[in-house]
Amino acid sequence: MADKLVNDEVATRDFKFYIFDWDDNILRMPTSIYLDKLQPDGTWAPHKVSTSTYSVVRQDTAHYRLAGNSRDEAFREFQDSRSPDVNTFIRDTREAIRRVVSGEEQPCPSYSTFRKTLVEGRLFAIVTARGHSAETLRHGVELFIEEALTDAERATMMANLRGYRRCYDGVKEFGTDAEELDYYLSLNRYHAVTSPDFNAWLERKFSKKVHPEERKQFAIGDFVEHVIRIVGHSIATGGGGWKPISVGFSDDDPGNIALVQKYISDALSKRFPDVTFCVYDTSDASLERGRKVTVSGQMALGLEV
Ligand SMILES: [Mg+2]
Repeated sequence: MADKLVNDEVATRDFKFYIFDWDDNILRMPTSIYLDKLQPDGTWAPHKVSTSTYSVVRQDTAHYRLAGNSRDEAFREFQDSRSPDVNTFIRDTREAIRRVVSGEEQPCPSYSTFRKTLVEGRLFAIVTARGHSAETLRHGVELFIEEALTDAERATMMANLRGYRRCYDGVKEFGTDAEELDYYLSLNRYHAVTSPDFNAWLERKFSKKVHPEERKQFAIGDFVEHVIRIVGHSIATGGGGWKPISVGFSDDDPGNIALVQKYISDALSKRFPDVTFCVYDTSDASLERGRKVTVSGQMALGLEV
């Protein structure tokens, strides 16, 4: 059997990491939110909407309310199903990818950046307001690798992953493709910030209740600490020396973008002054990659994330 391809060029790359919101940023998911809508006769009737419609009608509380006035009821498809045979996240991820790959739908603004991140074998975090387990989100990413990447792209990804393993972990004998992919996926973070998993993690780590709006910030802070630890370890073990570090964050919700921007300037850029932070507002689906709204850190170097 021929030797497996190993891309040693990865040793010369900068350290570039990404944090992605999922819905309407990577994929337009056909997941429904269950609302009640006010009828002309003054009664309320069930009314299902998409996430993008919800972001518009949520302010209109005179005409729309959560089904049965219950968050659990309204967002039931955003939890891991109570019936184990249907996982709505996997079902909807499959369908959302199919629509893009078949050309039925335009991809979301960060779809191509996510593909590129995977093909290059770079570390990333998924940070979403959904309520699934981390494992469910990871299954969604595995499905994305299978369905949204071509065979050639997956082969390039594997060569890059082996390159990183050789350069930064000193690995000489590689595992099977499945083992190497599993190792890579285990280094990434999958934070669904309304999930029981995430709640338990927050309480363990910070021993306090965290306001729902702040949860994405905790997830982002965790990922930045995580990658800085990995970079520190890589440099300490002689893997190619220091390189510029940058972290990109993309989200289609302007409210989240504003909070994260504030969190970067108030906290992250002070704690990590050597890291370049870039934020992409992807609320305008017609703009590929979104609108870059802030950069902090090594601006003088003119780095691009
Ligand atoms: Mg979103």
